Amino acid sequence: MRLLLAEDDLALVEYLKPRLKSSDFVVEWVDNGVDAEFLALEESFDGIILDLGLPQKPGLEVLRSWRAKNLDTPVLILTARDSWQDRVDGLKAGADDYLGKPFHFEELTARLEAILRRRFGHSDNRLEYDGAVLDIDNQTVTSAQGVKTQLTAIEFRLLRYLMLNPHKIISKTELSEHIYEEDQLKDSNVIEVYINRLRSLLGKSWIRTFRGQGYRLSDQ
Ligand code: CA
Repeated sequence: MRLLLAEDDLALVEYLKPRLKSSDFVVEWVDNGVDAEFLALEESFDGIILDLGLPQKPGLEVLRSWRAKNLDTPVLILTARDSWQDRVDGLKAGADDYLGKPFHFEELTARLEAILRRRFGHSDNRLEYDGAVLDIDNQTVTSAQGVKTQLTAIEFRLLRYLMLNPHKIISKTELSEHIYEEDQLKDSNVIEVYINRLRSLLGKSWIRTFRGQGYRLSDQ
């Protein structure tokens, strides 16, 4: 899952980033409202953590602008003061949930995972497609033939992204954005190697190639 973290409190960012990464999120960070607004519209994210008190453009204005432009990425807002007015304004502006500072990291991830589950329409920690089952907690996949395999972090992120978007042709660039950390080399040619590895586990025809466009699971 690729997250946009829009937060100008450096101490909080230093606290959050490594923890989000070890919870297996790919994190892109911006420290002001103008960059946040631009990046979310320009690139593809699965979820956004948005501080309301951002320099250059307040979080609430950024959120209103995203929703006015039909960006429907789930947004969790962080409110500095635990004020009911901020929370109401945020929810009215199109936030999916909110969290008042200070907060426990566990609550942040639980709320984040809940809004992502709602968005992607699955209710537990498994994804299924065409007989294969991905166990999100243990990062294992079980093929239609019943063979269970422990996945590497990158194989897991790749398969999860494909299974969350089974009807969409996904380009190598989009896949690499969703599986690599920002400081890793985003080599989209390597994607093919990982795709072939997943095919060897799940069946050759399980992932379809659309020449010059990308990959998709579904026939429809
Ligand atoms: Ca702030």
